[in-house]
Amino acid sequence: TLAQYWEDRDAPVVTKDGVTVELQMNAGLLFDLGHLSQTGASAVGLFRTEFQFLLGGALPTAAAQEAFYRQVLETVGKREVIFRTADIGSDKRAGYMSGPREPNPAMGWRGLRVALDRNGFLRTQIRALLAAARGRKLNMLLPLVTTKEEFLEAKGLIEKEVDRHRKHVGPPPPIAVGAMIEIPSAAWNIRSLAEVCDFLSIGGNDLAQFFFAADRENDRVSLRYDPLSHGFISFLARTIDEAKRAGKTVGFCGEQATDPLMALALIAIGVARLSVAATAIGPLRATIRSVEFAALQAEMQRLLAEEQDGDLRTALREWAVTQG
Ligand code: PEP
Ligand code: MG
Repeated sequence: TLAQYWEDRDAPVVTKDGVTVELQMNAGLLFDLGHLSQTGASAVGLFRTEFQFLLGGALPTAAAQEAFYRQVLETVGKREVIFRTADIGSDKRAGYMSGPREPNPAMGWRGLRVALDRNGFLRTQIRALLAAARGRKLNMLLPLVTTKEEFLEAKGLIEKEVDRHRKHVGPPPPIAVGAMIEIPSAAWNIRSLAEVCDFLSIGGNDLAQFFFAADRENDRVSLRYDPLSHGFISFLARTIDEAKRAGKTVGFCGEQATDPLMALALIAIGVARLSVAATAIGPLRATIRSVEFAALQAEMQRLLAEEQDGDLRTALREWAVTQG
């Protein structure tokens, strides 16, 4: 019945054998957030703050940023929001941000690299986020982290702003700072990042782009490589295992997780949280509730041990069909 549907929607998402998977929503506009309660997502797992920076013709002022974040938090209500600090550059170029033309922008001056080089820009954003949080827990996620040193440098800037907030505004909100894992070297060395950050989220769009050396903006090459392949999944499995050794679970916020089979593969290798577009949440909830985690995990371990390289999709689909 309809009443049952609403009830189910807000219940935790668990597999048949009781393993909980957190389903979160990706957003970047206030418009997206209207869908949050309809989807039953447990949180906004990735709020792409750069949209505000890219839509206008100029860098938004600190006041405009603060007002926007406040509106986001009010719209979302009691659920948590993970604010990804502005990820500018490459496919997200702001016309007003000058800089040399880059022949290879995806691997260029972007994400945290821009934020650290123009740290006034990052500090303004942190200041606005701290002010908007008003005592609510503030989750910040840093984009395109390459090394632990970069993460710590950004964390140092956050600490400066927290001190400033304490001095001039009042007690700071509780804070969690996470790192996006979008670069193969960061994934390979995830243990050192895991030791210093509060949480981790794999950005599969960028990570797959670099893993397969296939521009995500270019369909001619990006569609050639299925991320649901032995190479990528075993790489992610190692990444997640390494993070766990440092006591951290890992989330995944790339678009690939909207594909139910890919989502199953991610859950099988131990991804604890999936953050996806609003429209994908319903189908994923149904998929997760229909499987037995122990069987799924065993099947994935078998596939990863057996297969050399290549497609995992066919075998996983066949397995899913036998599970009903
Ligand atoms: C990603 O790279 O997977 C990601 C979530 O960030 P974006 O798509 O905004 O680069
Ligand atoms: Mg990215």
